[in-house]
Amino acid sequence: MTRSLDGVEYHETILGTVGNTPLVRLRATARGCPAPVLAKVEFFNPGGSVKDRIGLAMVEAAEREGKLRPGGTIVECTSGNTGMGLALVAAVKGYHAVFCMPDKVSAEKVSLLKAFGAQVVLSPTAVAPESPESYYSVARRIASERSGAFLTDQYRNAANPQAHYETTGPELWSQTGGKITHFVAGMGTGGTISGAGHYLKERNPDVRVIGADPVGSILKAYHETGQITEAHTYKIEGVGEDFIPAATDFSVIDQVIACTDRNGLNMTRRLAREDALFVGGSGGMAAWVALEVARQLTPDHLVVVLLPDTGDRYLSKVHSDAWMRDNHLLDPSATRVGDVVGNKARALPTLLSVEVGQPLRRALTLVEQHNITQIPVFKDREPVGTLYDSEILKTVIADPGAIERPVEQWMDAPLPVVRSDEPIERVTQLLASRNPAVLVRDDGSVVGILTRFDMLQFIAGGE
Ligand code: PMP
Repeated sequence: MTRSLDGVEYHETILGTVGNTPLVRLRATARGCPAPVLAKVEFFNPGGSVKDRIGLAMVEAAEREGKLRPGGTIVECTSGNTGMGLALVAAVKGYHAVFCMPDKVSAEKVSLLKAFGAQVVLSPTAVAPESPESYYSVARRIASERSGAFLTDQYRNAANPQAHYETTGPELWSQTGGKITHFVAGMGTGGTISGAGHYLKERNPDVRVIGADPVGSILKAYHETGQITEAHTYKIEGVGEDFIPAATDFSVIDQVIACTDRNGLNMTRRLAREDALFVGGSGGMAAWVALEVARQLTPDHLVVVLLPDTGDRYLSKVHSDAWMRDNHLLDPSATRVGDVVGNKARALPTLLSVEVGQPLRRALTLVEQHNITQIPVFKDREPVGTLYDSEILKTVIADPGAIERPVEQWMDAPLPVVRSDEPIERVTQLLASRNPAVLVRDDGSVVGILTRFDMLQFIAGGE
């Protein structure tokens, strides 16, 4: 709530800035979709995520119900964002805060919570929720053992979906002037989709509410069959579950669409590069699903996708090339030739080459010193041929005098040239059709070479 003192506009605390996040159109990433796609950009919340909404709502509800009193402790199991929302509220209202989370969360998320004075307890990711070691069990134990402690329990707390029914849903409705036809959101606790979906359906029962679920989670199968299946681990954080959260109202969800780590995480990177929307993996996943949906629609429809949080917390994960490569998640079509040249593991001078007219001795020295297989031959800065180590050795052994003669006598056809902004697939195609290497042109001049060895190293993630 904004206050005004003699024309001075301000918020009494940071909590007044929660909600009322903007809608931003997906342009480049949604190119080719007949229906417009708008993103509800939740990183505009002061804690950087949609969870600020429920942090505030759950604490206010607990205060109203007498479950939280001055000096009390807020306990929650959270993969970070809910903790952040609660940490803001705890700091402003003077509560203690303890957060229990799985050890797969990024180090950035843990540091962030500690910055607000909260305590963080990590538990193993790969244990069943009912195990005493799980972060759910640890949170329950702490809440029952500490006096004045209250477990907010976003998975069961009715104030979670209620916050979205009261804020997110009405914002979506009024910002779109009631024109929203499809709402897409990832599902963790299910609070966002249930609360906002419920509100939208009340205003217009024809609004389609679509859940995005990572492959490995059990929510899609549960929605479709009512059966509880076996969960598998996946990399996208904050969404998908291995149990059915009570906060999810499956009756407002029309459809659940599954998304792989690869599709969701590569979309996360595209959102930053192409639309300058720097978000976490669950946002990329939801956007990927929204685009799948929008491709089947017409310009009369209006798709809104909720992007839950900022990419800041995943700099060492989805937004790190090395992490994506190590997890074999990089989408070749999203990788440019220049990315691979810039990441070459071998410490060689940029491009080893010889000039037309130089003696074969020069090429022999390069082979010897740098252990390379092929050497491009240049004339006036343009590639005109290639020398291969086997040919050089054969020649020099047969005729030692040849080393003083100009290289062009032994050169083969020049290597193909690709531009550094072309997708890396172009290189793999050329290498597959028997070219041992390709040259890379950037800004007009040839600046690098990519060999089969370089490509294998890049794909294998070796350093
Ligand atoms: N994305 C992220 C990063 C989250 O932390 C969460 C909450 N677990 C969600 C999406 C899903 O939101 P909800 O819990 O409201 O379903």
